[in-house]
Amino acid sequence: MDAMLLESPAPVETGALKPAETGPLRPADTGPLRPADTGPLRPAEVDDPVIAPDEVLVEVSVCGVCRTDLHIVEADIDVPTLPLVPGHQIVGRVKEAGTAVTRLRLGDRVGISWVNRMCGQCGPCVQGRENLCSAPVFTGYHRHGGYATLAAVPAAFAHPIPEQLGDDAHVAPLLCAGIIGYRALKQSGLRPGSPLALYGFGASAHIALQIAVAWGCEVFVASRTEDALIRARAMGASWTGQAGDVPEECVDHAISFAPAGWLIPGAMEALRPGGTLALAGIYTDRVPELDYDRHLFREKSIVSVTANTRSDAAELLNLAARIPLRTDIETYPLTEANTALANLKSNRLGAQAAVLTVAAG
Ligand SMILES: [Zn+2]
Ligand SMILES: [Zn+2]
Repeated sequence: MDAMLLESPAPVETGALKPAETGPLRPADTGPLRPADTGPLRPAEVDDPVIAPDEVLVEVSVCGVCRTDLHIVEADIDVPTLPLVPGHQIVGRVKEAGTAVTRLRLGDRVGISWVNRMCGQCGPCVQGRENLCSAPVFTGYHRHGGYATLAAVPAAFAHPIPEQLGDDAHVAPLLCAGIIGYRALKQSGLRPGSPLALYGFGASAHIALQIAVAWGCEVFVASRTEDALIRARAMGASWTGQAGDVPEECVDHAISFAPAGWLIPGAMEALRPGGTLALAGIYTDRVPELDYDRHLFREKSIVSVTANTRSDAAELLNLAARIPLRTDIETYPLTEANTALANLKSNRLGAQAAVLTVAAG
């Protein structure tokens, strides 16, 4: 299969385009040609995935680009397998099914998310908390992901994509940004009608915002990019502020989507008694010292968000069709994966999600 392969992690700027050379953002398939894509990922021919009897082989149509991919490519988090094809927001069609597969047919449209397989036998799995599985397999991390023309997944972990969700490219960001945004809302304990604060406004937050607004919540959004704040207001945010700002009135629920530990004390101080801050990132830099009385006393909680269960995914895809949720995307050809990651890192995407178009159509 054709793939964008990571052999040695490095900063995406390594040999990548400087912002001044890339020009204004535009849909990659309609504008003028960009300079060649360079960076840690390189185009390569990789062996096709071999599927187990309970797995399906998926012909990849598109793959979303997630901040976790950036952390993998730059080795901010440990990378267990190299060389590696990243990517875990895959939409495609079943091309081949293992002998034990009964729930999917050839040609079915499915999504593959970060959770590729959970063991089903450890304590958390047995308790229905499979997102905390002690032996997980993550897509584009433990096994090759979707920056490629083919990807494999157990049929039980492939998510059927309803036709009413629209085209593949707009569905892709739902498969991680959407699912994690939704799980973060659940972890923050959000109840319909309660005020919510979102710190950082990227692809995940823009889904969380739409769900919260649909639930009648007033939402405060803080971001360091003005473009993101304009989008947040257009999507129904009641108030917006700069990075480091907190809402004028305290809130019961908050989510930080930014990998910035320094935001945490301010966010905790802006919680009402009993309030919860959910940390939605897979990675956060140093968390400063907290003051017990200002930041934690009166039953305030900090909780992280770790992967997702299959029910989270099914609930989110269901909400996406009912609300309906809108994803704001910027497409790039597969061969421009480095550029997409560099633009994500430099915040040039705002709340837009980058999506790699792998197959035509
Ligand atoms: Zn398990
Ligand atoms: Zn992700």
